[in-house]
Amino acid sequence: MAEIDAIETDHARIVFRGKDASRAKAFASRIEAGAAKAFDIMPRPQGVDKVFYALTWPQVDGRLYGGVAVGEADAHAYYHPFLDPSELATGQRVPTDTAGLPKATGRVGLHEGTFSRSDFVDVACHEAVHVLANQWFVNSPPIWAVEGLAQWSEGRRYLTAARGRMQAAFPQFEKVVFQGYDEFHQSSLETEFYLCSAAMYACIEDDDGLDAVMRTAQAFYGSTSPEKAEEKLGRTQKQLVADTRKWLGA
Ligand SMILES: [Zn+2]
Repeated sequence: MAEIDAIETDHARIVFRGKDASRAKAFASRIEAGAAKAFDIMPRPQGVDKVFYALTWPQVDGRLYGGVAVGEADAHAYYHPFLDPSELATGQRVPTDTAGLPKATGRVGLHEGTFSRSDFVDVACHEAVHVLANQWFVNSPPIWAVEGLAQWSEGRRYLTAARGRMQAAFPQFEKVVFQGYDEFHQSSLETEFYLCSAAMYACIEDDDGLDAVMRTAQAFYGSTSPEKAEEKLGRTQKQLVADTRKWLGA
């Protein structure tokens, strides 16, 4: 068993092996910056003031806490049921649901590959947004609604820079909106699909403001099906796609 240590910042708990201590220290302020940005954007689940980041290594990438599909990702968020810390101390085993406590929080695995990325702070923010969005989780939301929110949180400059690529990929994206995880992640247009998904939220933000972005994400996370979310919103995914196509000039 490796020796484990931790650093606590205002918005993050950073956990690492003893041998990764210098890396953790060097990146702590950037992890904190990403987490702080996510807390700035997202509603805060009651009782949650920090995101948990683990520095992982190839042998454990995607294998912590029961595992998660990571593919080629440099980092990822784990879904994890939230336990009330004070009750946890007395042996709580059942996730809290309706008692005014958060339904879920989560943990982030930062793979070694993340640390050479120039957009490191944005990655830390992206994963923290996944973690915080899981407070709404009822049933697997459409993949565009999940990755779009996290990509959108990274900032508009990525959308501005990739406008032409997004316009070109949009016809394929329109199909992927109604498909699953594999069609999204295993496509050669995966990067463009992230960006087009973010454009869905950027379009909503421009039309109806930040609250509407959160309302939309919450509806898709917090409904038992996409159709139920559409009913809640009074707007279908088809309409959202059509509006985004216009917004993008595609
Ligand atoms: Zn993501």
